Amino acid sequence: MTRCLLVADVHANLRALDAVLADAFSRGGFDVVWSLGDVVGYGPEPDECIERLREYALVSVAGNHDLGAAGVTGLELFNRDAAVACAWSGQRLSERSLEFLRGLPLEQLIPPFHLVHGSPRNPAWEYVVSVPAALRAGRFCRETHCLVGHSHCPSVYSMVPGEPVHGGPALDGATVTLRGRLLFNPGAVGQPRDGDPRAAYAVIDTERETVTFHRVLYDIDATSDSMLRNGLPPALAWRLHAGY
Ligand code: ZN
Repeated sequence: MTRCLLVADVHANLRALDAVLADAFSRGGFDVVWSLGDVVGYGPEPDECIERLREYALVSVAGNHDLGAAGVTGLELFNRDAAVACAWSGQRLSERSLEFLRGLPLEQLIPPFHLVHGSPRNPAWEYVVSVPAALRAGRFCRETHCLVGHSHCPSVYSMVPGEPVHGGPALDGATVTLRGRLLFNPGAVGQPRDGDPRAAYAVIDTERETVTFHRVLYDIDATSDSMLRNGLPPALAWRLHAGY
């Protein structure tokens, strides 16, 4: 049996990541962590989050913020606050962490899953937040199921045209059977944007062929205070409280 802890968009929020790990351990643990990109950017603990994830058996893909912070891509494609946070992260990262980020692949194929940050068509940048986008992703996905992050919204979509099974948000506690061809997003650990400020993650159970979505509280005040103390853009700290 393999249980995969699925995380995305940790965004340098160590308190949120530690809350997710503790919650996952309390629910039966996991064998491997699959990280769908954007470990860094926005938050105050980029190096610490990379080091924490590396304590576990880890499979990761690169997100746009990882590429920006590591200097692999320029910052002109980011909005102003995101670019400021990316540059700040890049300066804070150890050489070991920078090397880790530079070495991340844009996609990983682990049958029956295709792992990317954004979409299988444009792995680092494209958002999949609608049924048409999920159907398009299905044409580019090279495995049965597609795992994405980037939108910061927990969600499940069918990639099969005409299948009315799924197409939208995945709520806390929801368990979905891996049937047909699904695209799903565990939501963001470090900066949720679906109106629920709690950290989000999911667990794939390959034996039961299920994915279960979870939300967990963490100390948002402490993270946002740390962001302000470090001179990160205030709007990035405030949005953590709104979960948007
Ligand atoms: Zn992100």
